[in-house]
Amino acid sequence: MKVTFLGTGTSQGIPIIGSDHPVCLSEDSRDKRLRVSILISWENATYVIDCGPDFRQQMLRAKCTQIDGILFTHEHADHTAGLDDIRPFYFRQGNIPFYAHKRVFGEFKKRFDYIFATENKYPGAPGVILNEVRNNQPFELDGVNVTPIEALHYNLQVFGYRFDDFVYLTDVKTIAKAEKDKLKGVKVLVINALRIKEHISHFSLAEALEFIEEIQPEKAYLTHISHLLGFHAEVSKKLPKNVFLAYDTLTITI
Ligand SMILES: [Zn+2]
Repeated sequence: MKVTFLGTGTSQGIPIIGSDHPVCLSEDSRDKRLRVSILISWENATYVIDCGPDFRQQMLRAKCTQIDGILFTHEHADHTAGLDDIRPFYFRQGNIPFYAHKRVFGEFKKRFDYIFATENKYPGAPGVILNEVRNNQPFELDGVNVTPIEALHYNLQVFGYRFDDFVYLTDVKTIAKAEKDKLKGVKVLVINALRIKEHISHFSLAEALEFIEEIQPEKAYLTHISHLLGFHAEVSKKLPKNVFLAYDTLTITI
């Protein structure tokens, strides 16, 4: 199984438009972060998690020519605003399968109503197949068992996903014990760590490290990073030896 980090930045991305913060001005390519998303593939299957405003650029950069579906964590714009750009995949492959909580599909129907039009649908609009994800109901994607993991992003329900020994969890602030139990034995864990200071809806660096310590994965990668976390090179040096800052284009094999 192969995972590529398409984006590792928080909602505004790094650099932030108009910012003169030193991290936003950094010339280290690892300090340039598009909005969070990953590409996950195995054998002949390729899936994307989330479809933020940088989706087009991310697909071009990763030279991704075919996707078997998109899984969504939640409906916030930094995870969904690129939805119209699935069109090249739709034109080539037909309706694109989506996997998400049904509340997220309700939001899509409001924000991207033209995609769901049943009468006089505009010919250039993409088509999708909605697959509802329910907690405690694992599902199969091309031979791999996927377990949804529920967490709270302030008071908004979000889903993370476990694919065999790999877990992708982002936009987490609180997570119940029963959900943590689903992470037992995970080899590679991706978890959000926004910044040093606490935040109402995201793990801070200390909270993410505490969570990793509790789950005990072999390796953990931090994502959904704000410029306020600091420079990639400096923060990386201070992390425990099995914890890494993810960066855009990083590819790992599980
Ligand atoms: Zn987010």
